[in-house]
Amino acid sequence: MAEIAFIGLGQMGSPMATNLIKKGHRLSVYDINAQAVTTLSELGATAASSPAEAAKGAEFVITMLPNGTLVQDVLFGERGVTQTLSRDALVIDMSTIHPLESDRLCQRMSEAEFSYMDAPVGRTSDHAIAGTLLILAGGTAEQVDRATPILMCMGSELVNCEGPGMGIRVKLINNYMSIALNALSAEAAVMCEALGLPLDVAVKVMSNTPAGKGHFTTSWPNKVLKGDLTPSFMIDLAHKDLGIALDVANQLHVPTPLGAAAREVYSVARAAGRGRQDWTAILAQVRTLAGRAAD
Ligand code: NAD
Repeated sequence: MAEIAFIGLGQMGSPMATNLIKKGHRLSVYDINAQAVTTLSELGATAASSPAEAAKGAEFVITMLPNGTLVQDVLFGERGVTQTLSRDALVIDMSTIHPLESDRLCQRMSEAEFSYMDAPVGRTSDHAIAGTLLILAGGTAEQVDRATPILMCMGSELVNCEGPGMGIRVKLINNYMSIALNALSAEAAVMCEALGLPLDVAVKVMSNTPAGKGHFTTSWPNKVLKGDLTPSFMIDLAHKDLGIALDVANQLHVPTPLGAAAREVYSVARAAGRGRQDWTAILAQVRTLAGRAAD
């Protein structure tokens, strides 16, 4: 059983720390909220009065904090973790923070010869309570191996994201897509309502199409990701269909800011001469917009 310092006992951190205690680990906990510390100490954790005190003698230090500035303060502040941290310990930041901040923290820790990895989580506080979080482990192979038994006390699934900083990167991209898609899904659902189309019919149909499943696993693998832009479904036709949907939405007074923005991307692709290419060539077009090689 390991000696673990756990810092940040909020909605996520509290149940995660609780699950580590339940699995028999010895925890030293710190949070600026004294009540959160008291609750964990009633479950068997040792209450610490600072991050430095929590980290003393710890084999693992886990941070679960709201943002990167706070992680930096907790690690490098006056009474921060690095004041007492052993060079043999592994610091695991499980917070969702800016990836470039995470890189800087990793760099600073490594310059001070401390071991640091990122392991943000997917899912919600209900999963934190149930111990069924999705853990996105970024770190060297050795760090991920070492952390896995500890991380699996808090989650039911761990993905080795293949390198330092890669956990927080995939977390960011996952959230970017799912958060943006939530808004696009709402536009589509309101169009269903305005058209009198039962939402459950749309859900049934779309759960088997790229609309519901996303493009990464459906339309892309055999086309643009293989460099094949011969049309299965042409950009010109996609542009036309999107235009019809936007016209219908307009007539029904349904605002569609995301659909309208997407149409402009297809317009740019068409103007760039990609009209007769496969619709997955949108990836190549967006690479071009970003000043990157199209393929
Ligand atoms: P929270 O606000 O409930 O908890 C944060 C905790 O950090 C609080 O208890 C707060 O007192 C403590 N804290 C703040 N500053 C501190 C400091 N200087 N020293 C010690 N403790 C300090 O937030 P949460 O929902 O538990 O989220 C934590 C992290 O997990 C965030 O990065 C969040 O984005 C991420 N996350 C949250 C969810 C979710 O569903 N809530 C899901 C996945 C990831």
